Amino acid sequence: MLTIEEKNKLGQQTARHKAIKMKVHEKSDLAVDDKRRVLVLTGNGKGKTSSGFGMIFRALGHSQGCAVVQYLKGDAESGERNLLQQLGVPVVTMNTGCSFKEGYCAERERVRAREVWLQTLTFLNDPDIDVLLLDEVTYMVARKHLDVDEMIAAFEARPANQSVILTGRAAHRKLREYADTVSRVDCVKHGLQIGLKARKGIEF
Ligand code: ATP
Ligand code: MG
Repeated sequence: MLTIEEKNKLGQQTARHKAIKMKVHEKSDLAVDDKRRVLVLTGNGKGKTSSGFGMIFRALGHSQGCAVVQYLKGDAESGERNLLQQLGVPVVTMNTGCSFKEGYCAERERVRAREVWLQTLTFLNDPDIDVLLLDEVTYMVARKHLDVDEMIAAFEARPANQSVILTGRAAHRKLREYADTVSRVDCVKHGLQIGLKARKGIEF
């Protein structure tokens, strides 16, 4: 049995809960029903690419059309790519072809970035793609392989049903301003910093 004091407290809590709920409902009534979104996942912590793929899998669960473009990435093993290929979802990777021995080759990366951007444009013009993930695309802007204004113009011209997810550290200010949702993943700590090896199913 509750005491009168406890009953009063519960009553106050319920009233406060109802008021909060009303406010949420008011806000969602006001929300613009714009179908398409631009999301940026940036920051130095772990979880940007995996969150982007999480939304791709979420959209696939609703039978939506999806495509993935992976800037920077080569053909190293990737669990998410394995699964998407089994599902027939297009995944384009940059694959500069630079060997580990050669190290970073800026010129080849620039050429591949432009080629992959042309493939990205075909997805950005395709109304059958509801969700498009551009993984690690922020680096292409930071390294000046791709022009940020040209990129935003292409986003602006995309079909009304198409959402775009951009991932990568140090997202350009213009991309952050243009996006309607921006999340920054902070690194509190990361296992690799204490020498833990990249793990299948967690890192790739
Ligand atoms: P994930 O692909 O796991 O979602 P991410 O996209 O947020 O990670 P990136 O910045 O793209 O991370 O880094 C690529 C790789 O480096 C990932 O395997 C990730 O686990 C690892 N990594 C991410 N953040 C850190 C960090 N702060 N220190 C060391 N390694 C990291
Ligand atoms: Mg990533």
